[in-house]
Amino acid sequence: MSADANCIFCKIVAGQIPSRKVFEDEDLFAFHDIAPWAPVHFLIIPKLHIPSMAQVGPEHAALMGKIMTLAPQLAIEQGCRPYPEGGFRIVTNTGAEGGQEVHHLHVHVMGGPRPWLKG
Ligand code: 5GP
Ligand code: ZN
Repeated sequence: MSADANCIFCKIVAGQIPSRKVFEDEDLFAFHDIAPWAPVHFLIIPKLHIPSMAQVGPEHAALMGKIMTLAPQLAIEQGCRPYPEGGFRIVTNTGAEGGQEVHHLHVHVMGGPRPWLKG
């Protein structure tokens, strides 16, 4: 599961498909979603090709911890206002019935003023 030749997110990590990069280290890559649902909308992915949350196990605990601790830091850097007035939404779609379209594990981080939400 290191890289999948047919996976668009593996190609983004490899630089074979361009993206607007938000963050990169040895384990993770973050980039703006090409079709944003919110004023701030980026994706955090492991460089390792894990198809979805359904394949995550104890061996991925540190990696998943890195993703979830990076999310709030990048959210603020990308313009989300601070908690509690501001904030952000974290979503991970999993499998067909979970609405997943790209089968390389990714965390959506979305925020900014969203007038379609009450309040
Ligand atoms: P899913 O539905 O699998 O949770 O979300 C996949 C997300 O990836 C979608 O929000 C879609 O807009 C985004 N996406 C798909 N292809 C590309 C691409 O080539 N580049 C970027 N930056 N985002 C993409
Ligand atoms: Zn992949």
